[in-house]
Amino acid sequence: MTNTTTAAPAPKSAKRPYSTNRLSPRYRNIVPLTGDALPCGICGQWTPSAEQTGTEIVKAIGYSPRTSHEQIVASRKGGAVGDPFETRMTRCITCATLRTEAAQLAAQYPHAVVVGEFAYAGSTAVDVVERALAAVAVTGRNISMRQPRDLKLALEHLVTLGGSLRWQSRFEGLADRDARPDTAAAMPWSHLTEQQVGVARRAFAGYLRARTERPVPVVPTEAAGCYICGIGEVVALPSQAITTWHSVKLSPERLGGKPGTPQTETEVCSTCHAEHNAVGAWGPSLLDKLALRAAGVERHVGAYDVQLNGVKAWGTTGKKRANRTPFEHMNLAQLADDIRAGRL
Ligand SMILES: [Zn+2]
Ligand SMILES: [Zn+2]
Repeated sequence: MTNTTTAAPAPKSAKRPYSTNRLSPRYRNIVPLTGDALPCGICGQWTPSAEQTGTEIVKAIGYSPRTSHEQIVASRKGGAVGDPFETRMTRCITCATLRTEAAQLAAQYPHAVVVGEFAYAGSTAVDVVERALAAVAVTGRNISMRQPRDLKLALEHLVTLGGSLRWQSRFEGLADRDARPDTAAAMPWSHLTEQQVGVARRAFAGYLRARTERPVPVVPTEAAGCYICGIGEVVALPSQAITTWHSVKLSPERLGGKPGTPQTETEVCSTCHAEHNAVGAWGPSLLDKLALRAAGVERHVGAYDVQLNGVKAWGTTGKKRANRTPFEHMNLAQLADDIRAGRL
């Protein structure tokens, strides 16, 4: 993917100094801002002043660290590399319409703007719905929501993803290293990779399936609960039940068990299994990551690179009853407090 910010010479007839044809040598996915153009905060596209709807300032505390040396330097400055910076953004015509739709849906189904345990109201509710609609916009599909349940499911499947695909998410908090405030996407969503678009398509397909299916609780084959997080059942769509629990071989010793405990064959839930695929080993880093997530502080600056001591996998605690929520066998409230207070 081309990812350059070098200005190409402007052709006489075009108002934009680059080509939006992927086959052209002048094609750029990200282009410099010129004149009074601004990036659309949602789809990222280069938006001339005549097509702008409002402006918004997006704040970064700096860039996210890349190397271990940068992490050390950054840890003294709240986790960021470089200085805080602000980026001015707008909404393009299409995304202004998206926001109007989001506002209508939030007003029509006020009790359906729920994500996990959180219910949203007012302009925050519109923000949340807008993120889900953004994910749909990435796929190029249309979505029709005829009842509150449709909106609830759309949020469940698309809101986090939609949030992360927005242009402005690259400039918020710990900014992406290649996020330059003086740039915009050459075309709507052209800052995204093909993989990211693929993830959005799969998420949208998941939403469509969920609309016609009823989720059911799925329990492990033999174990009482997930060896790692301890949950006893996973609520899943029938079509996904088969990938909900996984049989694995792991070493309890590395997960808080007594030294010398032999390898064991056991079951883990899909969440812990996915994390294992990302981390690569059944060991302390995996436990730390999942425990921080369960405590709701995984993305807190204080959790960056932190090493917790003594997180135990549920399977090593000898408990017979499964957890109702992941890592219920730990004091998660204490962990969250410690992270937020920077005590770890
Ligand atoms: Zn836009
Ligand atoms: Zn688990």
